[in-house]
Amino acid sequence: NPYQVSKNYGDANKAVARIPVGIGRKRLRIVVTGGAGFVGSHLVDKLLARGDDVIVIDNFFTGRKENVMHHFGNPRFELIRHDVVEPILLEVDQIYHLACPASPVHYKYNPVKTIISLTNVMGTLNMLGLAKRIGAKFLLTSTSEVYGDPLEHPQKETYWGHVNPIGVRSCYDEGKRTAETLTMDYHRGAGVEVRIARIFNTYGPRMCLDDGRVVSNFVAQAIRKQPLTVYGDGKQTRSFQYVSDLVDGLVALMEGEHVGPFNLGNPGEFTMLELAEVVKETIDSSATIEFKPNTADDPHKRKPDISKAKELLNWEPKKSLREGLPLMVADFRNRILNDDEGKGN
Ligand code: NAD
Ligand code: UDP
Ligand code: UDP
Repeated sequence: NPYQVSKNYGDANKAVARIPVGIGRKRLRIVVTGGAGFVGSHLVDKLLARGDDVIVIDNFFTGRKENVMHHFGNPRFELIRHDVVEPILLEVDQIYHLACPASPVHYKYNPVKTIISLTNVMGTLNMLGLAKRIGAKFLLTSTSEVYGDPLEHPQKETYWGHVNPIGVRSCYDEGKRTAETLTMDYHRGAGVEVRIARIFNTYGPRMCLDDGRVVSNFVAQAIRKQPLTVYGDGKQTRSFQYVSDLVDGLVALMEGEHVGPFNLGNPGEFTMLELAEVVKETIDSSATIEFKPNTADDPHKRKPDISKAKELLNWEPKKSLREGLPLMVADFRNRILNDDEGKGN
């Protein structure tokens, strides 16, 4: 076990090389776990563009090399194939911890791996242990799912949530709730500088094509000329945030002075039927809708109260759904075309 061998960490490990980036700021070394995924890869783009060094840790469970391939050959970028459930030794200034199977298709496929697995618990524990040892700042990407099927609307960070602990979604909800607990325990108990983001539904280029989330499903279906599948009566609501807004929020949170938790989401609220209409307007007005049975424990409504992030992080989303959606369509068209060609269709 290489971790055991080097557990006797010297002080030298703490001295992270800092090279000036422009005037008044040092170049940082930053780890992004889950950096080959949808959100992570956009975050990596932003951190590299502003001049920092980035190490991505990803086991490619849902992420893809293609999402970060444009940085191959950049000496400031490094990609490590690694499962965060296993310990790792690195020397960095900041850790953005995103690694987690995040879509229903994936987490319902392997719920045990999502929660105990070890990813939300052991993965978060390992990254917190790493942060503690090297004195790095740690940011957790939690989720609006910690509010469960909310009885308070819109949801403020002070709301404790309404989660079914034994349902099919619990592996994700409770996994993230545990990750938040661990994060606060390391903050209080070991003095780790932590940040917690509660992310609301986010969409954009590089989303998994077939991960079952509603925006990726509708967009892919409209492009493939298939009916848009609306689950239940389609009156349940969600609030959809464009990925660049989220990435700006994550960076503002990491760089700011406040632990959080902070809701990061777009307060624009849509029923699934309204979302289907926007997708039709954007891609194909002749698209049809097919109703399907809803899944268990589906939250009836969700909308962030973002006053806290506005006030303390000076952050708010800039792109509406109608502005953001066209930006993911070109990416989806290309990938669907390549996919279908690959399958000989
Ligand atoms: P994603 O599936 O595209 O990215 C997750 C990444 O983590 C993938 O690259 C995957 O390969 C990697 N990963 C998973 N398990 C791992 C492990 N054990 N070790 C190393 N890497 C591992 O999902 P995303 O939408 O980019 O989500 C990123 C983070 O944001 C997740 O923590 C998710 O819970 C959170 N989040 C996302 C949304 C959203 O709407 N996209 C909403 C709320 C919270
Ligand atoms: N850890 C890691 N890298 C490090 C330091 C710790 O992966 O550089 C992991 C380690 O495997 C441990 C977890 O983080 O299981 C928690 O570490 P901590 O030091 O808090 O706990 P301890 O090792 O004392 O149980
Ligand atoms: N949904 C839908 N059609 C789909 C996929 C999802 O109507 O093809 C619904 C789903 O029932 C839920 C909402 O869209 O009410 C958002 O689902 P998603 O899985 O994208 O996000 P989450 O439920 O995690 O917020």
